[in-house]
Amino acid sequence: MADLKAERLIQEAFAATDHQMKQLEEYFQLLVTWNEKMNLTGITEREAVYEKHFYDSLTALFAYDFTQAQRIVDIGGGAGFPGFPIKILYPHLELVIVDSLKKRMTFLEQAASELGLDGITPVHGRAEELGQQKVHRESYDAAISRAVARLPVLAELSLPFVKPGGWFVAMKGAEGLEEMEEGRAACEKLGGRIDEPYETKLPIEESQRFIVKVEKVTETPPQYPRKPGKPAKKPLS
Ligand code: SAM
Repeated sequence: MADLKAERLIQEAFAATDHQMKQLEEYFQLLVTWNEKMNLTGITEREAVYEKHFYDSLTALFAYDFTQAQRIVDIGGGAGFPGFPIKILYPHLELVIVDSLKKRMTFLEQAASELGLDGITPVHGRAEELGQQKVHRESYDAAISRAVARLPVLAELSLPFVKPGGWFVAMKGAEGLEEMEEGRAACEKLGGRIDEPYETKLPIEESQRFIVKVEKVTETPPQYPRKPGKPAKKPLS
């Protein structure tokens, strides 16, 4: 196997074991193979997948200590980002991946099984509806999400899943600080309090990242999340 730069950087930055690196490689292979049949990712070049999907997903580890969590939910997880790489690094986690695109569920189930990862449950549905269901509402230690919506909308999709005392970890790009201010009032309405953001960069292409952490301080009022589409149409402010 070629000694890819991004691969080596992942191993060093996140102290990934050889077994975990092998799982990431298998995941990469599955992603590009399945991508020929269904749209999973626009990024398929190996070095780019390792940096922009794997490394990028794992930057959540810099901001939040996943050893303190047992059950986490990835909101709008798509092909498994950021949840899958995090689960590979922290196999003790029970990971639920929520997405409204049903065909991605098959990929996630198959990938979890081929990688030998127990405790991954893909759930098909809209976060607005699932967040109102007893089985999901306020039952996760942490919610994580990348590239789904701007913070005022994303907070309404994610915070209802988090237990009081838990955390919502939003992975954001260069506009992270702006979004943080835009989403502050929404987070408060939903029972959250924004913590100091964590700033980092991708290691090779060096684009800026902000990880916005929101602590769930009180229960989310029962009217949230509103009906599907409403959070995006009329974001909380
Ligand atoms: N998080 C992945 C990543 O970083 O590669 C996927 C990002 S993709 C741009 C956004 C994903 O969010 C899509 O898979 C879409 O189906 C899902 N999504 C958007 N709104 C949603 C909602 N309200 N409920 C559940 N999933 C949603």
